[in-house]
Amino acid sequence: MKLNKNNYFSQEANQHYMSVSQFKSFLPSYNGCEAAAMAGINGEWERPYVLAFDEGHYVHAWNEGTLDEFKSENPHLYASTGKTAGQLKANFQHCNTMIETLESDPLVMKALGGQKEVIMSAELFGIQWKVMLDSYQPQTGIFADLKTMKEMDGKFWNNEVGIYENFIDHYGYNLQMAVYAEVERIVNKRDQWLLPHMVVVTKQKPPDHDIIYFDYDAIEQGLHIVGKHIERVKAVKSGTEQAVRCEKCEYCRSTKKIQRIKHFSELKLY
Ligand SMILES: [Zn+2]
Repeated sequence: MKLNKNNYFSQEANQHYMSVSQFKSFLPSYNGCEAAAMAGINGEWERPYVLAFDEGHYVHAWNEGTLDEFKSENPHLYASTGKTAGQLKANFQHCNTMIETLESDPLVMKALGGQKEVIMSAELFGIQWKVMLDSYQPQTGIFADLKTMKEMDGKFWNNEVGIYENFIDHYGYNLQMAVYAEVERIVNKRDQWLLPHMVVVTKQKPPDHDIIYFDYDAIEQGLHIVGKHIERVKAVKSGTEQAVRCEKCEYCRSTKKIQRIKHFSELKLY
């Protein structure tokens, strides 16, 4: 299967290829669930629509230079009733403020330069992976991923390890950058990785923004984490091992059938 912009996010592409977000969707440590991941890949379940996704798409369309098309293809971005009918909904107006924040910072525009939304695929850990680089500048030795998020200073409790994590570890952005760097290196037969950068803009008023880079140590660590979990993910995705239900996520809650009555003392806080 040959990947392009129209089929990159399709069910067929998700069946053929592993992606970083699909990989994380299998892992409880990234709020994933094997059963939900498999139901998604098999087309039996669709993750409920979340408005925040469109906010991210809006800012990405700006980076790609396709914001006008994106707006005309998505009439639901506009208010349809009331005094503001015909105007962009307030949260997308705020996306414009986030875009202005990025546009007015020269270093951001430098980091986001180059080719946009570049699709690549390569074999890694014995399976095919797909990646999409938001901004790609091989001649400068970098690529950049654009992130919109609520805030940058959130701390997240990791119950497995018993520590608080920052947003990078919590969302597995280190894994994403590592896999992107490695796929790019394999595709272009390089000895060395390009340096992954992340351009972050927050939804705060006014927005905060930053540029974060990852070094070779971070790439090695990220690939190591993927390597630790990949055999289980491969086995579940190929059907040789049964997907485990987490019984907590949206998919599991909506398909739950009680197997056993719990003793009250089994309930835990975490
Ligand atoms: Zn689940």
